[in-house]
Amino acid sequence: KSGFISIIGRPNVGKSTFMNKVLGQKVAIMSDKPQTTRNKIQGVYTTGQSQMIFIDTPGIHKPKHQLGEHMMKVARNTLRETEVILFIINVAEEIGRGDEFIIEMLKNTTTPIILVLNKIDLVHPDDLIKQIEVYKDTLEFSEIVPISALQGNNVDKLLEVIESYL
Ligand code: GDP
Ligand code: MG
Repeated sequence: KSGFISIIGRPNVGKSTFMNKVLGQKVAIMSDKPQTTRNKIQGVYTTGQSQMIFIDTPGIHKPKHQLGEHMMKVARNTLRETEVILFIINVAEEIGRGDEFIIEMLKNTTTPIILVLNKIDLVHPDDLIKQIEVYKDTLEFSEIVPISALQGNNVDKLLEVIESYL
C-alpha cells in the first residue's frame, strides 16, 4: 500500500513535531512564517507493507491578497489529490478562528479526514472528551485520534489508522 497524506492545521498545533516524531529526524520545515511552505513532500515513512508520503499543506488563512488566493487554490488541490487528510488541532486550546476556517474549507472535500487531537499531555481527560464533542459537531470526521506528538503517545496507533486508508 502506498499513498499521499496531507497535513493541515493552523500554526503551532504541532505539525512539524508530529513529522519529526514519525520520521525520527529534523526534516520538516520549522518556520514561524505560515506561508513559507508550499505543498511539498515533508517526508516518506515506510513500513514492511506500506509507504506513506506526507505532504505539507501551505499556510491556510483567510485570503487577503492575490498570493493568498493562489495559496488557497494550491491547498484545495492538495487536499483533493491525497488519499487522507490529517487535520491537526491543539486540544489544549479552545477551538479558534484558525481551526474554524480550515473546517469551512474541509466541508467541500470528499477525501477521508482524520482529526488529530494533539497535545493530550497538556489536558485533563475530561477536557479531552469535551473537545471531542466540540469538534464532532463541526464536521463528519472519518476518525478522531488523540496523540501527543511531543511525547509520542498514540502516534503508532495514528500511523495504523492512516495505513488503513491507503
Ligand atoms: P507547527 O507550527 O504546527 O508545525 O507546530 P510545531 O510542531 O512547530 O509545534 C509548536 C509548539 O508546540 C512547539 O513548541 C512544540 O514543541 C509544541 N508541541 C508540539 N506537539 C506537542 C505536544 O504533543 N505536547 C506539547 N506539550 N507540546 C507540543
Ligand atoms: Mg511547522
